[in-house]
Amino acid sequence: MGTKGREIVGMDVEKLLELLNKAFADEWLAYYQYWVGAKVVQGPMRGVVAGELEEHAAEELEHAEMLTERILQLGGTPLLRPTDWYEMTNCGYETPEDSYVETLLEQNIKGERCAIEVYHKLAQLTKDTDPITYNMVLEILTDEVEHEEDLQAIVEDIQLMKKR
Ligand code: FE
Ligand code: FE
Ligand code: MG
Repeated sequence: MGTKGREIVGMDVEKLLELLNKAFADEWLAYYQYWVGAKVVQGPMRGVVAGELEEHAAEELEHAEMLTERILQLGGTPLLRPTDWYEMTNCGYETPEDSYVETLLEQNIKGERCAIEVYHKLAQLTKDTDPITYNMVLEILTDEVEHEEDLQAIVEDIQLMKKR
């Protein structure tokens, strides 16, 4: 932790650390939901869908990485137990019990919409108080918006295909 680096944060650092850890919990659950979803997915365009899910899994893991770095920089501790993810999560975990593409995609779209809300709120909160966190949050938010769009586009394509 850098003393001056922590000092310049214009909000309650402990509160900020809690919010960052909550987002961190979301990212791990999102990572696993995508990762395991890519393995079990069935139905039309399964190869394309699995590829996209794998890509998103890797990006969620990268988000977890970015959040950890910032948490440590601010003198906090990233959640140490997977059981903490369930306790701290904003967006939860959707179990891919039904492996059909559209069901799986809808579950992940729901997760992305929640993530967009979480990072949008974090962006508003840090905009004038913590430029470093704000910058990171914008980067993650940009990815989440892209994730939602990617998944919606696949759902649209599957629906178009069915109409032909
Ligand atoms: Fe993410
Ligand atoms: Fe995402
Ligand atoms: Mg993508």
